[in-house]
Amino acid sequence: MYTNQSLNRRDLLRGTLAASLASWTLSDLRAEESAVGDLQLTPFRFDVTPPIGHSCCGGWIKPVEVVDDSLDAIGFVLFGIGKPIVLCAVDWTGLLNGAHIEWRKALAEAAGTTPERVAVQCVHQHNAPFACLEAERIVASQGDLPHIVDLDFFRRCLDRGRSAVGDAVKQARPVTHIAISQGKVDRVASNRRVFRDENGRIKAMRGSSCRDPKLQAMPEGLVDPWMKTVALYDNDKKIVACHYYATHPMSYYGDGHVTSDFAGLARKQRQKDEPDCAHIYFTGCAGNISAGKYNDGSKERRPILTQRVYDGIVASEKDLKPQPIEQVGWKTADLIPSPRETLSAEALVAQIGNKDNAVVARNRPSYMLSWLRRVEQQIPIVLSSLRLNDASLLHLPAECFIEYQLRAQKLGGDSRFVATAAYGDGGPWYIPVKEEYPAGGYEVSVAFCSDDVDTQLTKGIQSLL
Ligand SMILES: [Zn+2]
Repeated sequence: MYTNQSLNRRDLLRGTLAASLASWTLSDLRAEESAVGDLQLTPFRFDVTPPIGHSCCGGWIKPVEVVDDSLDAIGFVLFGIGKPIVLCAVDWTGLLNGAHIEWRKALAEAAGTTPERVAVQCVHQHNAPFACLEAERIVASQGDLPHIVDLDFFRRCLDRGRSAVGDAVKQARPVTHIAISQGKVDRVASNRRVFRDENGRIKAMRGSSCRDPKLQAMPEGLVDPWMKTVALYDNDKKIVACHYYATHPMSYYGDGHVTSDFAGLARKQRQKDEPDCAHIYFTGCAGNISAGKYNDGSKERRPILTQRVYDGIVASEKDLKPQPIEQVGWKTADLIPSPRETLSAEALVAQIGNKDNAVVARNRPSYMLSWLRRVEQQIPIVLSSLRLNDASLLHLPAECFIEYQLRAQKLGGDSRFVATAAYGDGGPWYIPVKEEYPAGGYEVSVAFCSDDVDTQLTKGIQSLL
């Protein structure tokens, strides 16, 4: 359980370190490996579909008018190596700062573990909540801005999470085998930052949808084409299949229609094939990746992209060969990032308070201000990895660039299978690699960390692998 005592002790520790902390600091690393005894597992699922009228993506696009299909939180609890471990994927745009911590605390309480042993990763659909409790407080105090997140609805989601996990815990069953595999996804992921001038600076972004024939014709650029799968078994029965693929998951959005979009729809299709196995989809490091090359944003493209992701899942699962689980471990690393030098609290407060500004130019700075205040308080982001035999399930924050996931695979070496889920704590927004900062472009303009983030995040990943 998450006790006040342990929180206070860590707060104290943080206080003493605070003076010496410049930029991202790898302030804490906890590791634990154990021989496999009686491992048990239980999947859970709960509904997180926002009500009609709820803000989407921070309140600057059309709010919810219709629900086309549900948004879900899906995960599992693993027992048998110390306190339980919880992984969860959520069909939301993001969970940032306090909202991410609250979510992990709620699931931890229900599972009988600590928040450091809970990884919550968003899939990042955009007609969905983009929850930051601090930003919500800031915009609510203005009185004339659309909400970031409805706090009652947020609490209801946590209640549903607690009861779903609580019920699941009673139905834990043995987990004995693991299988890993990958399959190529055809024509979905493309790099958003391919159009550059002679100095390498970004001239235009290829967004999640793109109608410019010149941008469409440009190469895919740097992507990770693999759908990776980690499946867990109770003897010969597959009970959980986690799928990992790196792309922004939107075909079109901003129309007030809630949807899990092509990534979620592909997962749901696969779930129908195998009702007795929980299929979970994680979005990898997709900060600079979207379907833009293959998506003109028309309604016809959504089922096509859904089918391609579904085919990728099926291709990945084709080669699953269960092996007895022989090694399990959980590692975490705390990171305390330094914010972008260009962010000034004073300027942000003025921007948010300026009623002549568009909603996006007031709500977005409220996320930036929340980030500044969070760093001031030295509240770390927790990175984690679950080791199962030769596989590492890696949990990273926010909108990391694809380079981080490719780097993680390299750091893991030839014998390690690294499955990366990003969009954990969304506080920092985009996390470019260092060399991309001078190139500019949209993602860099809304990256809340200084470029030191590259070194520190890479160190964190290394320590987890
Ligand atoms: Zn994004």
